[in-house]
Amino acid sequence: MFIDSYNRKVDYLRLSVTKQCNFRCQYCMPDTPEDFADDEQIPFEQLLIFVQVAIDGGVRKIRITGGEPLLRKDLCDFIAAIMRYAPQIDLALTTNGFYLQSYAQKLRAAGLSRVNVSLDSLHEERIEIMSKKRVLGKILCGIDAAIAAGLRVKLNMVPIVGVNADELCDMLDFARQKKVMLRYIEFMENTHARALQGLNEREILQALRSRFTFEFVEQSGPARIYALPCGTLFGIIAPHNDDFCVSCNRVRLSAEGLIVPCLYHEDAVNVREILRAGDKEAIRESIEQALRQKPEKNRWGCESASSTRAFYKTGG
Ligand code: SAM
Ligand code: SF4
Repeated sequence: MFIDSYNRKVDYLRLSVTKQCNFRCQYCMPDTPEDFADDEQIPFEQLLIFVQVAIDGGVRKIRITGGEPLLRKDLCDFIAAIMRYAPQIDLALTTNGFYLQSYAQKLRAAGLSRVNVSLDSLHEERIEIMSKKRVLGKILCGIDAAIAAGLRVKLNMVPIVGVNADELCDMLDFARQKKVMLRYIEFMENTHARALQGLNEREILQALRSRFTFEFVEQSGPARIYALPCGTLFGIIAPHNDDFCVSCNRVRLSAEGLIVPCLYHEDAVNVREILRAGDKEAIRESIEQALRQKPEKNRWGCESASSTRAFYKTGG
């Protein structure tokens, strides 16, 4: 079992399989990321060994992310290989939805059961402002295809003042109609994103009260879950809250082969060479080393704090 220096059990791995992306979301990356040219993707055989070590060490939940993970050829084979190794694993994928329509059935057949789709607006022009692409139709078709394929779908929305902050209620209505869970994610300030202003949990709840009544149900992982009287659930991920990190169970492998113990802080352990060598013992030691560096909490709650971590490399 992996335990960090604050006695937190770490059993959740977020795996970024590429930093490449076909979108350019304002809150995630610059319009022209300078490091896209020198992208050397970690082969899936090497990632599989890393995943096996993590599972052997007690990881029970894995999320594949990016960049855009569906840009990687053979992703379904990788998923199938993980499921063969550990059929009991809780495996999920986060995607911008663009390629989901063509991949949904194959992902389900490979053994994936859950997918989170980023959907920031129901207006084409706002999606374009946010992601620099006119892609609303593709994302909506992807969501429908995932539901039809039997995948459990959640939607991720990052509310940004002046872009989509007036759509919180419409988005919840949309999620309710689709019978999927919506999660509002507070914008996490970082030096690779534009200087945007996100909404915090209090502001999100206040906006939702204009149309809905609801009550707090539970804390589930990083999300605080609320329920409407009809039973529809929604979640808020609020990393600016002082207690957000108290039960953090996450460790990340970035697209560049860094084990990242905290999304905010710079500390990381580089396992690029160790992955090439496929040395399982060295991988396990590196995970433990990274967890010794895992800080008590992020700094997003501090005034004008901004992370230097790039979300498109660590996968959010
Ligand atoms: N490309 C995929 C996607 O967009 O879903 C997966 C990678 S993306 C980095 C993972 C999640 O991080 C997305 O839901 C995205 O909205 C979120 N995200 C990216 N930058 C963020 C930021 N600065 N603050 C909060 N969430 C962010
Ligand atoms: Fe790409 Fe996802 Fe980042 Fe948007 S949030 S730029 S879709 S990696």
